[in-house]
Amino acid sequence: MHELSIAMSIVEIAEENIRQSEISSVSEISIEVGGLSGVVEEALEFAMDEAVKNTVLKDAKRTIIRIPGKLKCLACFHEFEVEDIFTPCPVCGSFENDVIAGKELRVKSMIGE
Ligand SMILES: [Zn+2]
Repeated sequence: MHELSIAMSIVEIAEENIRQSEISSVSEISIEVGGLSGVVEEALEFAMDEAVKNTVLKDAKRTIIRIPGKLKCLACFHEFEVEDIFTPCPVCGSFENDVIAGKELRVKSMIGE
């Protein structure tokens, strides 16, 4: 399952950060997930429940922040929000668009003790 490997890498990032700091456990973590990252939030939540067991994140409150996907049309430079990447420009109908937001998948912040 795709989301499980993502969840495990989030745990790894958290553990890496903790090794470099004074804190011993994480009480809160927020994760940014782009709308075009291909990650299903519900599946990620479910996978996180498994991945955090016996780790520094086991008691952490999780917040998943969804970043809307955004494309920029290469023909007319219009910027627009989308749910999937294969969406034509609403102004000129072009399918040649650059992704300018929505690919994010990262640990935004952590609060620890
Ligand atoms: Zn356009």
